[in-house]
Parts: sequence; structure tokens; C-alpha cells
Amino acid sequence: MASAKTPKPDELIAIRYAPPETPWMETPTVFRPGTWSYSGGAKSLTALGLPNPRAWQPPDEDWKLPENWKGIILEGLRERLEKHRSFRLFMDICVRCGACADKCHFFIGSGDPKNMPVLRAELLRSVYRRYFTASGKRFGKLAGARDLTIDVLKEWFYYFYQCTECRRCSVFCPYGIDQAEITMMGRELLNLVGCNINWVIEPAANCFRTGNHLGIQPGGVKDMLEFMADDIADRTGVRVEIPLNKKGVDILFVTPSGDYFADPGTYTCMGYMMLFHEIGLNYTFSTYASEGGNFGLFTSHEMIKRLNAKIYAEAKRLGVKWILGGECGHMWRVLHQYMDTMNGPADFLEEPVSPITGTRFENARSTKMVHIAEFTADLIRNGKLKLDPSRNDAHRVTFHDSCNPARAMGLFEEPRYIISHACNHFHEMAEDTIREKTLCCGGGAGLGNDENMEMRMRGGMPRAMAVKQVKEKHGVNRLACMCAIDRATLTSLMDYWVPGVTVTGVHELLANALVMKGEKERATDLRGEPLQGKAADETL
Ligand code: SF4
Ligand code: SF4
Repeated sequence: MASAKTPKPDELIAIRYAPPETPWMETPTVFRPGTWSYSGGAKSLTALGLPNPRAWQPPDEDWKLPENWKGIILEGLRERLEKHRSFRLFMDICVRCGACADKCHFFIGSGDPKNMPVLRAELLRSVYRRYFTASGKRFGKLAGARDLTIDVLKEWFYYFYQCTECRRCSVFCPYGIDQAEITMMGRELLNLVGCNINWVIEPAANCFRTGNHLGIQPGGVKDMLEFMADDIADRTGVRVEIPLNKKGVDILFVTPSGDYFADPGTYTCMGYMMLFHEIGLNYTFSTYASEGGNFGLFTSHEMIKRLNAKIYAEAKRLGVKWILGGECGHMWRVLHQYMDTMNGPADFLEEPVSPITGTRFENARSTKMVHIAEFTADLIRNGKLKLDPSRNDAHRVTFHDSCNPARAMGLFEEPRYIISHACNHFHEMAEDTIREKTLCCGGGAGLGNDENMEMRMRGGMPRAMAVKQVKEKHGVNRLACMCAIDRATLTSLMDYWVPGVTVTGVHELLANALVMKGEKERATDLRGEPLQGKAADETL
């Protein structure tokens, strides 16, 4: 199926904010090319044991649903209302104050009222009222209730797959209503009748098949790490080791597969390898746990649990003491918000202590998994790394707080601490676009696919405008972030809205600045680009 042509930025920016003529319940859903994602492939659904595998696409008239689809959805809704008290509360307590209305990047970028968080939730609430509240059963539309029909189901699909579960709206809601949780429930219900998207289902299936989202076999992981070790040797003169599937080491290192296989994530991965070599860390990569990302978050609670368990099963098999996690997004949300309830604390591992500084990571007492930014910031704070920030002088850097480490973990200071020690030129974006108010890349939660490009560019527009502002004011040319999805989606977003700004991981910047024992004089950064000053010297 051919991808839709994405409008040019000057066409796309002409956003119409006037609401449609018709009331929202009577405004039909139009599956416009460029604003939806391909359906989940039957092969992947079968591999995951999900219901109703078949060939279909969202614009089709007939979605080939099971005959009793309505009963399945309503029974699923009943079960979830009983099981998740927060969900029932979110269905009942919204006072429609509108504080969240203009906080969603998809509403800002599209002007579509159904992308206002309050109305996105109402798509599901209206059905909840109709079948589960006395007023809705009795007064129907007057009480904001409506029947569940095929058109309603299609509307859910369109708009729950236009929410990146970023949770920005929840920061502004006086009741703390978390639209991401509502979207997750909406997607879970859709999954019960086989309605999901391929950019979620295929990576999840691949993760069980080969260990990672991209479906790369163990030999491929080994080859990629070897290529990176060769590149490191070329740039620095230092040959780093590649511990892989090693039993009995102290630490299992888990990072998203985007760090192994796709630029610019590979430079971040080279950064990890150089850091671990320099401090003599006793660790291993794993081919079985070669994925930090957890696409269960975009499928169902059951899938979150299954995918998270895989990392811990590998830690047990290898006999490590604790786990160190790389620059990933939703892996950290799962760890911090769901793991304890779903999988239980990882009591078979040790409470993490840095073997280099002796720092005890008390916040990881239950999960036994430490974020690489905390680990590295602690090394710098204890004077364990020699850094030459002038090696990053070609870069004017700003930092994008990735939604999950920021809003799910509160990890604000550590990345900034690392960047400010690794770079001389760091500039923050506007206050209401960073930290807990950070704006989404527009491509998370499985939406970062090519067929959905127009919607990605719309959703990412507010973030891009904040980058544009620091580019114009301070000459920013590097956008740092701590998430593999961000590294992929922000790259397309910058090329579209702010050409000239490239995307980097925090540990790429760190490794550029890292002065390693026995290294040769560096002429280039990790990308092979001349260090500022060196190129000028050579032309003298
Ligand atoms: S801010 Fe909260 S209470 Fe107000 S409309 Fe939005 S979800 Fe409802
Ligand atoms: S969670 Fe994010 S994408 Fe979803 S409605 Fe809220 S702000 Fe929009």
C-alpha cells in the first residue's frame, strides 16, 4: 500500500481551529491518508495469541469483526471497570473544565476537537454512560450517552491511535485524569476484536521471536556490536570488548534495539560501550534481552507483563546482581509505574550499588534496574570520568525531555548534568515545553510509521517550534534526547520543520568528550565528523 504524500510545512501550518458545523457525536470519522496506521498483520497476531487475525485495513468498509463483537467489547469494558478503579474514576470525575483541551500536541497540530484530551476520553465515556450508568441508560444522548456502533468503534480506532499516551494533558488536569490510561483501555478493548496497528503488533511479536523489536537474530546483534567496536577503535585507537550473553557478571545491560541498529542510536550505543570499557564495568549485553522497549504498553496490560518478564528471566538465567538500562522511553514507564504490581519486585536480584563509586541506588530497591543517566551522572559527580567538553564545541545543544523518563520517572536533572559536563554550549527550550510539561515527539506509542507521516508532523509541530526558537536565538544545531523512539522520530521531525538540527543521544555527547586511557589524539567525533578546531588546523 503506497504512503500518502505529506503536505509541505507551509501548507500544514495553516491549521483550522474552528469546530465542525455538526455536533461531535454526529461528525463522521474520515480515514484520511497520512493520518492513520496500517492494521496489525495476521501473522503477528497469531504469534502473540491475539484474537481475530485476518487481512483488513482501517479505510475498509468491512472490518471483518467477530459476529458478537459488540458483546465482546462491552464485556471487556465491564471487566476493566471492575478491575481498574482508576479507570472507573476517570470515567466518572471529569468536570469538563477544559484545562486539558489545548494541551495535546495532536490538537495543537490538527485543530481536530476530537484530539482534545477531554473529547478523546468522551469517545469512550459516552459508551460507558450508555451501558453502565443509570442516567445514561435512561436519558441516552441527554445524559451524554450513545450506543456502541461500528462507526463508534472506528472512531475509537482512529483517535486512540492518534494519542501517543504521552500524559502531558494529565499534568494540567486538576483531577489528575490520565488520558494515556484511558487510551490504553481503549486500545485494549479494540484488541479484543483484533483491531490494532502493525507498528505495535509486529515489533511485539518480533520481541518474542528473536529478542528485539526489529526481528534481528542473535548473530546480527553480535555483528552490529562488532562493527561499532571497529568504529570506536578507528576514532579513538582503543579496542573495547563486547561481552555478550556472559554468565556470572555483575550487571546485565539492556537498551532499546534502535541503539544497536539505527543511526543516530548506534552512536549512543558506542557511547555506552566506551564508558563501560573506560570504567572497567563487569557487565554483559544479551541477545535474548536485546530490547528494552515494551510495546505491550500500546497493546494490553497482559502484554506489558509478558514483555517485562523477559528481561528479568534473562537476568536470572545469567546470574547477574542487577540491571542497568539504556536511553529508552517506555521501558522506564513500565518499570516505574507497572512492574511492581504486574510482575512483582525482583527480589532475586541485589539492590543496585555502583561498583565504581559505591553509591547505592535506593530508588531501584524494588526493580533492581538503574537508569544509565543516573549511573553516569553519579560517576561524574564522584570525579570518575575525565571529560573534555571542547570536543563537542561544534554542537549547540538543546535537550528534549522524553515523555516517559520525564513524566513517569521525574528524571530531569541527571541528563542535564551529563550534558553540561560534556558540552560547553547548552541552551534550554521554553519553560512550558520542557521537564514535566515536555511536548511529545508525535511518533510514540506505535505511531512513528511512514503511513502516518502527516499526523506525526502535525503532532510533533509544537516540539519542533520550540526547537526552532532556540535555533534562531542561540544557533542550536543538536537536539539531545534519551529515548530510541525519539531519536528516530525527532530526526524526521527536524528534517521537516527545522532542517539543520540533528538528533543525538546523551551518551553520544558524553563519549565524544570522554578522555579514555590510552586513546590516540582524536580528530573526529563518533560520527567521523571533524572536531571543531581540528578541521581548521588541517587547512592551515
Ligand atoms: S482538565 Fe481534567 S477535569 Fe478538566 S476537562 Fe480535562 S480531563 Fe476533564
Ligand atoms: S496523553 Fe498525550 S497524546 Fe494523549 S491526549 Fe494526552 S496529551 Fe494528547
